[in-house]
Amino acid sequence: MTTENIFSIPRRSQVARQFKQHGGLVAAVLPIHYPRALLRAFNILPMEVWGPPQVDVSYGAAHVQPYVCSIVRNALSFILTGGLDVADLIMIPHACDSLQGLGSILLDFLPPKQPAIPIYVPRNDRKEGEIFFAEELQLLYARLEEITQKSPSDEVLVESIRREEIADELLARLHKQRGSLQLTDYDFYLNIRAREYLPAEDFIELAQSILVGPFDGQQDGIPIILSGIVPEPMGLLKTISQFGGRVAADDLACCGRRLYPPGSNQDPFLRMAESILGVSPDWCRGSPIQDRLDHLQRMIDSTGAQGAIFYNVKFCEPELFDLPDLRRGLGEIGIPTTTIEIDISDPISSQAMTRIEAFFEMIQ
Ligand code: SF4
Repeated sequence: MTTENIFSIPRRSQVARQFKQHGGLVAAVLPIHYPRALLRAFNILPMEVWGPPQVDVSYGAAHVQPYVCSIVRNALSFILTGGLDVADLIMIPHACDSLQGLGSILLDFLPPKQPAIPIYVPRNDRKEGEIFFAEELQLLYARLEEITQKSPSDEVLVESIRREEIADELLARLHKQRGSLQLTDYDFYLNIRAREYLPAEDFIELAQSILVGPFDGQQDGIPIILSGIVPEPMGLLKTISQFGGRVAADDLACCGRRLYPPGSNQDPFLRMAESILGVSPDWCRGSPIQDRLDHLQRMIDSTGAQGAIFYNVKFCEPELFDLPDLRRGLGEIGIPTTTIEIDISDPISSQAMTRIEAFFEMIQ
């Protein structure tokens, strides 16, 4: 099942081409949170841009400081070298200062050929945050109206929201049942990361094809939690398997931190805001560190994880700010941790491999 399933996942370029052949538009979307359902209501397919790793970084490096993370540097390189020419618009959520800087570069200094649209996610997820974000989504609706000359009705919006909610529910089930799926960590992430670019209806099919089984009990390997931004280069996952580990759950910005619960509000904008702000705690919504620690502890309790790897993108300040407290907090409950820093363009270094090997030797 594994191999057949992997081979059935189309490439991003193929998905974009097919979507456009059927009259749709494509939006390149930077990390982390954004309203998929709103874009799809305008027949715009969001394709997420987490880097990418394979790109000539010199183009982006000429415009950003050397201490800017590789996600932003590579994304800028990709835009400047025409890698996102297929996109009809570029959306830049204001997740962190580096992404806000990228937004300013694209809006003020190096305008791409497509419209560049910033989007502001509130730094709190209380009621007033939801109201602010719903208004932000209404502004985005107006901007998309201008671009597409379409005005999807509330019914179309709600239909789009429901479709995304089904895809999100299946994604959450995949995460929950990962220990009994017959997929290696590498294959598991290849599949779930298809949510970054497949239309929801196609992801639903993919997820359902995995969730029919077979399930052969719990997988072998020392269970750990993987925290960070993105599992790139994905060779990391093979390295973890090679040294006898397995990822029992993750707190990755591109994966486990985006298991959006369904909204319940009758208003489509409030419902989208409620869902996006209802995910697990993270710094980009101003969550207290204690909430993040509690969340990690719940993951550890429910999976029996024996350690945590913090896999951080070099120069990612928001992750670095929380890191000492998270490691200290996990240490206090007896959970060993290690930290690996990477540039997403580089292969896993031998130093990182040695650290991962030593970590598994220590906790087994
Ligand atoms: S890696 Fe960190 S600093 Fe870079 S874009 Fe992502 S969140 Fe921002």
